[in-house]
Amino acid sequence: IGFVAETDPEVADAMSRELSRQRRNLELIASENIVSPAVMAAMGTVLTNKYAEGYPGHRYYGGCQCVDIAEDIARERACKLFGAQHANVQPHSGAQANLAVYFAFLQPGDTVLGMNLSEGGHLSHGSPVNMSGALYNFVAYGVEPDTGRINYDKVMDLAMKEKPKLIVAGASAYARAIDFSRFREIADACGAKLMVDMAHIAGLVAAGCHQNPVPYADVVTTTTHKTLRGPRGGLILCREEYAKAIDKAIFPGTQGGPLEHIIAAKAVCLGEALKPEFKEYGQQVVKNAAALAEGLMKRGVKLVSGGTDNHLMLVDLSGLELTGKELERRLDEVYITANKNTVPGEQRSPFVTSGLRLGTPAVTTRGLKEDDMDRVAECIALAMEEGFEDKVEKLRGMVEDICKKYPLYE
Ligand code: PLP
Repeated sequence: IGFVAETDPEVADAMSRELSRQRRNLELIASENIVSPAVMAAMGTVLTNKYAEGYPGHRYYGGCQCVDIAEDIARERACKLFGAQHANVQPHSGAQANLAVYFAFLQPGDTVLGMNLSEGGHLSHGSPVNMSGALYNFVAYGVEPDTGRINYDKVMDLAMKEKPKLIVAGASAYARAIDFSRFREIADACGAKLMVDMAHIAGLVAAGCHQNPVPYADVVTTTTHKTLRGPRGGLILCREEYAKAIDKAIFPGTQGGPLEHIIAAKAVCLGEALKPEFKEYGQQVVKNAAALAEGLMKRGVKLVSGGTDNHLMLVDLSGLELTGKELERRLDEVYITANKNTVPGEQRSPFVTSGLRLGTPAVTTRGLKEDDMDRVAECIALAMEEGFEDKVEKLRGMVEDICKKYPLYE
């Protein structure tokens, strides 16, 4: 920030305000994390100056010897970490990675099965407002209204009826473990390819805390900035037989020049995830989520599916006067950051919602443990009660006490 401040105080001011906000607030957005100084530093390097269309050893520009080294390290580490045969580390984001897979495997109009956005899926899994939904015939599966879980028998029935060319498994707001071996059976039974989007759980997979989709899926996509704790970006893993098609679908199919500074940061992040400490981190993320869920439920807060197996949970406000939008606002006021989220069987608009998504990847990086999570649960439960405005000062004090225990980027 110091360098920026010297020439552009206006932008530097926004940056330093954001740093203060991150230090002051408890970050419970399930898709966010806090990168290491090394990952952060890699993003701000001279690699941003380089054009490198193509792939290591086969570029359309001269002078790529050094970025080739960084990109090769990223590809090798991604394969090693997840046991994959081939990795493409160039997707600019998770959505780009998904579109590239569709471009590689599908023709416009082809039928695809994906999880309903309002029941936990992602926009890029066939939402009508997304290019995926506009180009392909996505048919949605969801969760059971009473259990909040995927019913694999029903997905099988739907797959046999629709005969999709591709099945997309993976979610943005699903608190339970996903059984990728069941999805493989379903794909085999109806003759579909299986794509797993493990964006949310990639870090848990890397840490051995969730079933690895790589042995079951034809192709696996992910973001690198969620539980995996890397720079904002995407990654595709696949079997060797699809390597050429996937690489072609990223470049020249859907992207131009790769962001080599981000790819170097991905390499650093993947190196961190290969270390034993990352296993402990993943385990702590899951323990913290369980403690937060337990702390909320014992205070009478309802959760979709009655708990969590992973890093996130969905507070269920259906039937209450309190909306997701209002709870998000209240928490923000007391320095807890979370996001409103639709719940299965949602009755309100996506801008209001009857749910709140909470996740533990960022607070776990910050250092919080189970007893802290119980305190966080207390804050959230208090914020949900009537008479919130009278409790603002008290709640801010409780959050401040936790944040002071765990300084950020000191
Ligand atoms: N896939 C899933 C499951 C996600 O949850 C997300 C983002 O939240 C994405 C893809 C898209 O990632 P990005 O925002 O990097 O495009």
